[in-house]
Amino acid sequence: MTRRKPLPLARALEEHAEALLACRKCVLSPGIRPVTTATRTPIAMLVGQAPGQMEQAGGRPFAGRAGKTLFQWLAQAGLDEQTARDRLYIAAITRCYPGPHPSGRGDRVPTLGERKRCGDWLANELRIIRPPFIVPVGRLAIDRFLGPMPLDEAVGREHQVEHEGGSSVIIPLPHPSGASSWIHAPEHKALLNRSLELLRKRLVAKRVRSVA
Ligand code: SF4
Repeated sequence: MTRRKPLPLARALEEHAEALLACRKCVLSPGIRPVTTATRTPIAMLVGQAPGQMEQAGGRPFAGRAGKTLFQWLAQAGLDEQTARDRLYIAAITRCYPGPHPSGRGDRVPTLGERKRCGDWLANELRIIRPPFIVPVGRLAIDRFLGPMPLDEAVGREHQVEHEGGSSVIIPLPHPSGASSWIHAPEHKALLNRSLELLRKRLVAKRVRSVA
């Protein structure tokens, strides 16, 4: 039997995005559609939790207030927003806006079922991109790669993990929404800065920087 030759990266990501956009595996509010990322030339991946209302409305990840903070952090690591969007494939644990939290504060956390169903998309992206490093942003994304672990032990260092696409260095970041008070402690800010410095070094090694 002849083995199918792997598709070039851009074409494989295009086919993947078309299939993902058509996904309706979860029962969500009418009109909710998966949010995808535009880049077809990524050098690594960034994985968030789930799109919010702004992302759903605009059809692109990290388009709201949390995204503004995230891109400020990435600028500290040497990437302006456009370069970050061009060179980092922005994935998420789930790709559709889950709706508001029943308490009325913030967004609903995706259910285990939604996370499991949506996980196939992330697994496929890992197989296509085979990223040398991955930046999980926030608790759900960090758990996906490192398992449950205190944020203090996850953020501020690199972790080597095996996954569907091979082996990658994981550089965790806390969630930039500000919903958690974790980020406000000075020792945790120091851990965040250490993660951003580790990311900066990885980007320099790949010759990808846009902010001095
Ligand atoms: S959350 Fe994921 S699995 Fe569920 S419908 Fe959206 S894209 Fe499909």
